[in-house]
Amino acid sequence: MKGVIARHAKTAPLVAALAILGPAAAFADTVPLPPPRPPEVTQPEPEPDKTGSPAAVPLPPPRPPELTQPEPQPDKPGDAAALPEEERACRDRLVQLGAQFTPLPAIDGPGTCGAPHPLQLKTLSSTVTVSGQPVVTCRLAEALATWSRDGLATAPPDKPIASVAVGTSYECRGRNHDAGAQLSEHAFANGVDIAGFTLKDGRGIPVGSDREPALQQALREAACKVFATVLGPGSPGHGEHWHFDMRQRRNDYRICQ
Ligand SMILES: [Zn+2]
Repeated sequence: MKGVIARHAKTAPLVAALAILGPAAAFADTVPLPPPRPPEVTQPEPEPDKTGSPAAVPLPPPRPPELTQPEPQPDKPGDAAALPEEERACRDRLVQLGAQFTPLPAIDGPGTCGAPHPLQLKTLSSTVTVSGQPVVTCRLAEALATWSRDGLATAPPDKPIASVAVGTSYECRGRNHDAGAQLSEHAFANGVDIAGFTLKDGRGIPVGSDREPALQQALREAACKVFATVLGPGSPGHGEHWHFDMRQRRNDYRICQ
């Protein structure tokens, strides 16, 4: 009997009939009732579509809100998760040096020009800013910040350096602006031209000028310790700026002219 009731208890009329049975209703406490219907089952039936025929297939319930949010964009600039480990480590070191920068989207072309993870450098340290909005690789930015720390520290205490003026940074071109020549490191955001610097008192020191020659010489010598290439006054085409780059050569051969 109990088994029979249990089998039929799914139907509401039978449950109601049991209630009328009086003493037999004691069964009702022990009769397993079906679980409450899940909410989605109580949702209204899908409306017939516009053609008038009822939708044959029930529609799935709406997706919960968290699933309808946009997917993360792995290529978004600054998305640390999308960066190679080496690049992430470089940016960490750059932050340690006190430099400030903005990650930029990849530069891709024209031709073989470009850089996968360029940065726009804003400051070289907590005390030295950089003008010219240079677009550089992290390795070059790190070298500039290191030069700032080690080299600019060679400035006499009464002539602290406040900012460094970058002329050209990223530019898709051949060496020495020769279209037929091998691409310059500028074409890979891996080279910068330094036009000069400004002391804290506001005095500008253009590279190659007759102002503060000892300081200019000290800075140039300090640069040779961190950059792979240092060219400046005395080197053809570099009378009024320093060219620094991080060109990788066999055996880490460096050029300091
Ligand atoms: Zn250059």
